[in-house]
Formats: sequence, C-alpha cells, structure tokens
Amino acid sequence: MHLARFQRVSLGHFPTPLERLDRLTRRLDGPEIHVKRDDCTGLATGGNKTRKLEYLVAEAIAQGADTLVTQGATQSNHVRQTAAAARRHGMACHALLERRVVNMGAPYETGGNVLLDDLLGCQYEFRDSGIDMNAAAREFGERLRAEGRKPYVIPGGGSNALGALGYAACAAEFVAQADAQGLRFDAIVHATGSTGTQAGLVAGLHAMNAPIEVIGISVRANRETQVSNVHRLACATLELLGVGGTLPRERVRVYDEYVGAGYGQPTASMVEAVRMLAQEEGLLLDPVYSGKGMAGMIGLVRAGVLRAGQRIAFLHTGGASALFSYEQTFRDDQ
Ligand SMILES: *Cc1c(COP(=O)(O)O)cnc(C)c1O
Repeated sequence: MHLARFQRVSLGHFPTPLERLDRLTRRLDGPEIHVKRDDCTGLATGGNKTRKLEYLVAEAIAQGADTLVTQGATQSNHVRQTAAAARRHGMACHALLERRVVNMGAPYETGGNVLLDDLLGCQYEFRDSGIDMNAAAREFGERLRAEGRKPYVIPGGGSNALGALGYAACAAEFVAQADAQGLRFDAIVHATGSTGTQAGLVAGLHAMNAPIEVIGISVRANRETQVSNVHRLACATLELLGVGGTLPRERVRVYDEYVGAGYGQPTASMVEAVRMLAQEEGLLLDPVYSGKGMAGMIGLVRAGVLRAGQRIAFLHTGGASALFSYEQTFRDDQ
C-alpha cells in the first residue's frame, strides 16, 4: 500500500487524536476503551467524510470541475462536509436531500446540518424517499452539464473506492499512532452506513497485515446486506490500491441489532449512549450514527463479546451538529 500514488488535497487536521476513555472504561468494566477522534477533522464541524473528500476533491480538480454534486439524507453530515470542501476550493455545491426520515418535526428540515448547508451556500433540493438517490444525483449532474457547468458527482457518503482510500489512510494513521503509544489494539468499532469507512479500514488493515478487527454497527441495512456491500467495496479498494490476494468475507463484521425502527429513528440505547458519553467523558456523539455505534459497542461489552483484557478503539465519526435537530428526542426522554 502506497497512498502517495493518489492525488489528494488537504481539507482536514490530521492525524486526529487517539485518546483514552478512562471513565467510560471504568463505568463499563470490560475492555480498555480508546477513541479515535475523527469528529475532530476540522472541516465545518468535522466528521468522517473529510478523509474521503481529500481524494474525491483532488480528482474533481484534476477533471476541471467547478461544481460538486452529491446526495444524502436531510441531516446528512456528508452533504455538509462536501459543501465546505467545495467552498475551500472555490467550487459550488449542489445536493439532493432525501426525505428519509419523515416524523422528526420542523427543526429536522431547517436546523442542524441544514442550517450549516445554508451558511455554506450549498444549493439543495428535496426528494421523497424510495428513489435511487445516486442515479438522481448523476441525472442532476447531467442537467448542470447541459447548462454549461462542469459537475463532479460524488456518490452518497463519498463511498466509492477512491473515497474509501481516505479510510485506508486512516488505518495507516491509526496503526502508526498505536505503535508510537506502544498499544496493541484488538478491534476498532464504529457506525457503518454507506460503507466507505468500514471498507477503507478493512482494506487498509488487510494491506498492512495488521491483525485488528473492524466491527461495524449498522445504522440502516440488515447484517447480510451490509456485510456484502462493505466486502464488495473493500475488494474494489484493494484493487485500486494494487494489493493482490483475496479478502475473506469473514473479515467484515457487522451487527444490525442497534438500528431500531430505521435510519435516523431514535432508539433508547442511542439516547443512553449519547448521554453516557456526554456525562462521563464530555464527548458529544450524534443521534444517527455515532450514538448508535456507541450503543452497539456498549451492548457488545455488556454481552461479553468485547471483554476485559482487550483493548478497543471507538472511531468517532462525527455528526454532533445533527443533535440540534433532535432536541425533542433528548427532552422527551428526560
Ligand atoms: C456517514 C457517517 C457515518 C457512516 O460512514 P459510512 O462511510 O457512510 O459508512 C458514520 N458516522 C457519521 C457521523 C457519518 O456522517
């Protein structure tokens, strides 16, 4: 694996910190828990899409694009980071927002990330759920091209092989930090959605022969679907990296027990996790991704799957700006 072969622009603050969570570790009384702070990438409140965008925006610039086009759910962290990345490089950003979560009340469509999209000058249009959003974004790009723009279309979550390189790079960064701190890790746990994060981590660790498990906590798809999608993208990423050999499907571990009623729908375990991390560690998670990811990690510790004697890193993928559009969820639960 030699990532400098790929063009990359600088959008974030790297390396992100790798820190101990001593109070959470004591509270859960299981493995030693650390956090990899990818909520601190620095791009317009940060998050995991920043690493992917460093590669994707480099390709957009190389192709002479003047407009980034992408799509996501209404409260998409990916759209917000793409809008910020576009501005940093003097480009426009057009986004399609899918009404994937419909029962969250008025602040959901104007607050949180949508407010930030507005501030960043992102032009967005809403779409009803149930359509092929990546196809809609490509069509939208063609419409802009017909109008004389030079669009570069980024798939949802920035999750193609090029974007996943960002998390292969994160795997290398993580292993270097762990080695520098003299810490042997057993697993990395994180929320998995559009799959680029998990696929990139799995590909990167596989390429480095690093025996660290990656455990994805699904926020949307069932286990079978998510494992297949992550595995497919991890294989494509390894091919792009020029790493030979086959990646066993068993290297992809996913739990789907923490989705609840659906994408973006609050769960009791998510509310518990968000509150626990806020009050034990002063760390803000988010209701859609990292809150459910942490709920999954807590659940696996309680179930004894993750246990004393192990050392675990929770990858904090960001998203706390969406908390403000879920105010009622946290008030109702008090
Ligand atoms: C997009 C996102 C994820 C999921 O990452 P994928 O690469 O889409 O699987 C996790 N957490 C947050 C906060 C996100 O915005």
